[in-house]
Amino acid sequence: MVFDISQRHSRNAGESGLHSAGTRNRTNMHGVLPYPHKKPAGNRLLASFPRAVYERIARNLRTVYLRRDDYIYRPGDRMEHIYFPQTAVFSEYQMLDDGRTVEIALVGHESAVGLMSAYSNSDAVNWTQVCVAGMALKIESDYFRYEIERETSVKTLLNDQLHSYMKFISQKVICSAHHSVEMRLCTWLLMLADRCGTGPLKLTQEHIARVLGVYRPSVTCIARGLRKQGSIDYVRGNVTIRDREKLQETACGCYREFCGEKEDLFLPAKSAEM
Ligand SMILES: [Zn+2]
Repeated sequence: MVFDISQRHSRNAGESGLHSAGTRNRTNMHGVLPYPHKKPAGNRLLASFPRAVYERIARNLRTVYLRRDDYIYRPGDRMEHIYFPQTAVFSEYQMLDDGRTVEIALVGHESAVGLMSAYSNSDAVNWTQVCVAGMALKIESDYFRYEIERETSVKTLLNDQLHSYMKFISQKVICSAHHSVEMRLCTWLLMLADRCGTGPLKLTQEHIARVLGVYRPSVTCIARGLRKQGSIDYVRGNVTIRDREKLQETACGCYREFCGEKEDLFLPAKSAEM
């Protein structure tokens, strides 16, 4: 279920508006709730766009609330929208014949989902699911593509993002093939925390097992060990990182590869007003 704050496309299945009658009157001629151009975008990719470009596309950005486990795209779906996460985090999966899944990418406020559609009409090749419920900015791919067509600087930014995405997936392959489930779990929790900030992570062991492509008892056993050593704690679907350094010691070196080269990647997004 996707809650569309602007209610512009509330005709779409599974979308419903959240805004009050008061905000309804402030929609512009396109029926879109005006996005506050001069406030932080909450998404680092958007915040890195030149101000003039950002202000143009901001008119057609819509704020949506996404629930955990909602599917954004399934393989074969036309990617009609690009999502710029603010507080939401997305998982991209591949699924085996027997129904088991493994995560190939984790996308939060540092990037966007559906970026390939910024270049041409594209169909999804992976499952994209909401891993952490929260807000995202959503824009029609056709409109976004039209607006950035002649913007070389934005295309360079998007190319860099796609390069990072490909590198991320490559590292995930290495990680899945060569590192233990315990290492991968620690790495994944750190990556998720980087995208969610402080506070408990709302996760079930089933969800973690799905991400790592293992059976739940493996996760239960490893989680108990991590809790015993004081790295994490968990209660009723809330996982808290108690000792980040200790967790990092158990994580594989992939964690540094996933985010180490961009040290400021997960700092709060800068304002789009530049
Ligand atoms: Zn690894």
